[in-house]
Amino acid sequence: MLHTLTARELHDKFCSGELSATEITAYFLDRIESHNESLGAFVTILRERALEKAAELDQKRERGDKLGKLAGIPIALKDNMNVEGVTTTCSSQFLTNFTAPYDATITKLIENEDGIIVGKTNLDEFAMGSSTENSSLFPTLNPWNLKCSPGGSSGGSAAAVAARLVPLALGSDTGGSIRQPASLCGITGYKPTYGRVSRYGLVAFGSSLDQIGPLATNTQDAALLMEVIGRHCDRDSTSIPEGPENYLEKMAERQDLKGMKFGIPNSFLEKLTGKPRETFDQAIEKMKELGAEFVDVDLSLLKYAIAIYYILATAEASTNLARFDGIRYGVRSANAETLDQIYDLSKEEGFGPEVKRRIMLGTYVLSAGYKDAYYKKAQKVRTLMIEQFEKAFEKCDLIVMPTSPASNFELGSIKDPLQMYLEDIYTVGSNLVGSPTISIPCGFLESDKPFGLQFVGPQKQDTLVFQAASVFENATDYHNAHPTE
Ligand code: GLN
Repeated sequence: MLHTLTARELHDKFCSGELSATEITAYFLDRIESHNESLGAFVTILRERALEKAAELDQKRERGDKLGKLAGIPIALKDNMNVEGVTTTCSSQFLTNFTAPYDATITKLIENEDGIIVGKTNLDEFAMGSSTENSSLFPTLNPWNLKCSPGGSSGGSAAAVAARLVPLALGSDTGGSIRQPASLCGITGYKPTYGRVSRYGLVAFGSSLDQIGPLATNTQDAALLMEVIGRHCDRDSTSIPEGPENYLEKMAERQDLKGMKFGIPNSFLEKLTGKPRETFDQAIEKMKELGAEFVDVDLSLLKYAIAIYYILATAEASTNLARFDGIRYGVRSANAETLDQIYDLSKEEGFGPEVKRRIMLGTYVLSAGYKDAYYKKAQKVRTLMIEQFEKAFEKCDLIVMPTSPASNFELGSIKDPLQMYLEDIYTVGSNLVGSPTISIPCGFLESDKPFGLQFVGPQKQDTLVFQAASVFENATDYHNAHPTE
């Protein structure tokens, strides 16, 4: 039953000699292999590579060398992050032939601390989506209910952690792709302050919004991984200078929420009704018992967040994806004869419908005749939104919101792309303003429908976000619930 242990427990058992890295790694690889067919969480399983690293680690322990912070912990990476010599498909047919020529910074940091990368997980193609149904390889299913979506775009990582196929995984979050699937799968997902984790070696989607972050079964494990990956990197020009923080130590210092003030954007949350509202309100009650104080905050500009996000994210995506042309990257069309045909047909055949939609939308909002009306205006509103959040944080320490308007939904049930975009209503704001934000489980709408709560902090206050989340988690046990098997 190793899969019910936390990442830290596995680490401790490895360090004390109770378990070998090989035993732990083989156990999780077997579990991944036996569950992946029904879940579709992994795109690539790195059996040989992982077992080799585990054997090296066992020797390291035998020699009495110092063991890294992640020693003995199996970790999965979303398949838009590079591991040298391994394919990075972004779950796109277009990139099925792409082998990463170098390691992402997060890959190096994890392996320097003896974490064991066991595989690459499924995502909406190029991380565009909220259900993982846009993967051009296969969909991922929600372990709570195999008819339902795990959310997206980091649905593979979320499903893998929720089904206890790995204790820890990384996702990327451009508009909610770590937090929303975490919420729909009943686990913890963390989007760091923009610039806290290096994006070097992450396939870019919306570069001013993208952040890599952990998915875990509990806040401590997420914090542990953040202590390793949350550090300055010279290879990412948007990396912040701050060094790594001791989240775990700081979390242990806080037992309650006394003296902490939480802002609730009441008018923005007006449309939250029914069971989601009830579940959210219960969480607020629980926080009151723990000593939290609440104030109303004005985040009225969030009503434009979806509009702004889908202008800026698609604009950035349209330039970032220009490199996938069948020459520098990607599968070249076999039907192309001229240079123009290589460009046109390779993209036509290689990209799925959602990716094409975004490239077209992004190209449109950046075009000469329209960029003032759309792109520039969206940038201006983004600046106003940042100012509005700053004002709100003058009145409170953290902002609290639900993660998603609902829980997991049936695969194929959301057909209108705009309807799907509205899934992100509560998550995109944090990306637009660069705030650190966590999603933790705070209840169930039905027995197989977990619901998540977000704490949003001022930029760089990642520690505060972790502290509040761990107090809430210690006082509840939603994080201990997991699907059977
Ligand atoms: N669902 C959002 C989108 O489709 C967010 C994606 C993400 O965070 N990668 O753009």
